Amino acid sequence: MAQLPKLAVFDLDYTLWPFWVDTHVDPPFHKGSDGAVRDRRGQTVRLYPEVPEVLERLQGLGVPVAAASRTSETEGANQLLELFDLVRYFVHREIYPGSKVTHFKRLQQKTGVLFSQMIFFDDEKRNIVDVGKLGVTCIHVRNGMSLHTLTQGLETFTKAQAGP
Ligand SMILES: [Mg+2]
Repeated sequence: MAQLPKLAVFDLDYTLWPFWVDTHVDPPFHKGSDGAVRDRRGQTVRLYPEVPEVLERLQGLGVPVAAASRTSETEGANQLLELFDLVRYFVHREIYPGSKVTHFKRLQQKTGVLFSQMIFFDDEKRNIVDVGKLGVTCIHVRNGMSLHTLTQGLETFTKAQAGP
């Protein structure tokens, strides 16, 4: 039985959805009668297509999920998680600017999970470098979060537990 992380942490912009919530779209957001999520200008906003399945799979595996985003648009990001019906998956959300070392220290305080038992998915190298120094298994996401990236990440985590 492969060892699973005790917490999976996701970046938001360009990891769960293909835009910067503080730059490319215009909050507040709303959901139309057709179920589509739109911004203030009526522009439709979407998740990367496999994101709901990724979160569903982690839930099925019993791995809790958290968010760590350094966007300054905290309200818009939380609103999107609600409108996309993803809030139920997240045990914690750390959404504010600054180095993600702060986000992870708070996540550790809140959950009691050791950094070595966490996995983190993010599209930005600077966050991978910062958080990697804490001992978290960091996965560099390219072209958005997918089931394939999740599987690869969990394999990387298992190998990291086995040691060098
Ligand atoms: Mg990002």
